[in-house]
Amino acid sequence: MMHFFDSHVDTPSQLIRLRDPGIDNRYGHVDFPKLRRGGVGGSFFALYTPTEMAPDAATRYALEMLSAVYDSVEKYPEQVAMAFTPEDALRNMRNGLVSIFMGMENGSPFQESIPLLRTFHRMGVRYVTLTHNGDNALADSAAEGTHWHGLSPFGKKALAEMNALGMMVDLSHASDETFWDCIRLSRAPVIASHSCCRALCCHRRNLTDDMLKALADKDGYVGINFYPAFLSERFLSDPADAALFDVGEQVESEFIADPSDPVRVQAWNGMQDRLTTIWRPGVKEIVDHIDHAVELAGIEHVGIGSDFDGILVPPAGLENVSLIGKVFDEMRQRGYPESAISKVAGENLMAVMRRIQE
Ligand SMILES: [Zn+2]
Repeated sequence: MMHFFDSHVDTPSQLIRLRDPGIDNRYGHVDFPKLRRGGVGGSFFALYTPTEMAPDAATRYALEMLSAVYDSVEKYPEQVAMAFTPEDALRNMRNGLVSIFMGMENGSPFQESIPLLRTFHRMGVRYVTLTHNGDNALADSAAEGTHWHGLSPFGKKALAEMNALGMMVDLSHASDETFWDCIRLSRAPVIASHSCCRALCCHRRNLTDDMLKALADKDGYVGINFYPAFLSERFLSDPADAALFDVGEQVESEFIADPSDPVRVQAWNGMQDRLTTIWRPGVKEIVDHIDHAVELAGIEHVGIGSDFDGILVPPAGLENVSLIGKVFDEMRQRGYPESAISKVAGENLMAVMRRIQE
């Protein structure tokens, strides 16, 4: 049976915001019941820290999220289990459990310290997205890209250490210069856990055709992202949509500032209903990006990194992970054989992980 493996979701941020993942939450993109309904084999829960957070605060926050991931997995042992290798995932699958892997989004929690990087690896973190939307101590990001012109001196040391540990280097959010530095310097394959194609949607955060080819030449992996802004330039092109989206961001940040306040929770839930009126790309656009990535990188190097729970609005018709089968149905309609669909659905992610961990 085919299983979906997602290379990037931001569910730990939601755990910190007091959401119980064992309950099917109407507004959640990912929770354990939805993962099971969607036939998901495993999912990479990313420990995301904002760029603005000071280093000590980022370390503390990442550790709290890491703890929340373990706690929630331990709370629902009949639904999920932790996984650190593809073999763990196979064992969990045989036991009827969804695997929870951990990644880290933005390397600032390890604070220019190789021992801290090694410690996060020991605690189970299996990839590091070097930056988020801001240059940091490791590297330049796609959103800024002015500080180091690629990797910093510490970023180069961290890259070598990650190669030695068998920890995946994730180039989603990286600036073009950082991307090419890593292609040149990494001794292992590299990944882009949640990135789309720039040829189809001209966003600085998306990968060019040359980058897609380079990832494949390096025996790496790209996971197509579901965020509407990376899928289609039409998203928010209507000024009314853009205005509503801005208000949505404001309401969300008020909720994040105090997720225990029921008034803010209610306001945020109501806003999420209103945000569904915005025009959004859907399954067709997602598979367009998969088609393009497969054309450039080949069928062995493409997967899905949904970015669920980290995106203000999901694609139309794909509001949460339980609906993931629609993507594979669309691929079937476009003539992909089952063997190719299984690769994109998850086999490629497990395979690149094996290549890097070896
Ligand atoms: Zn991201």
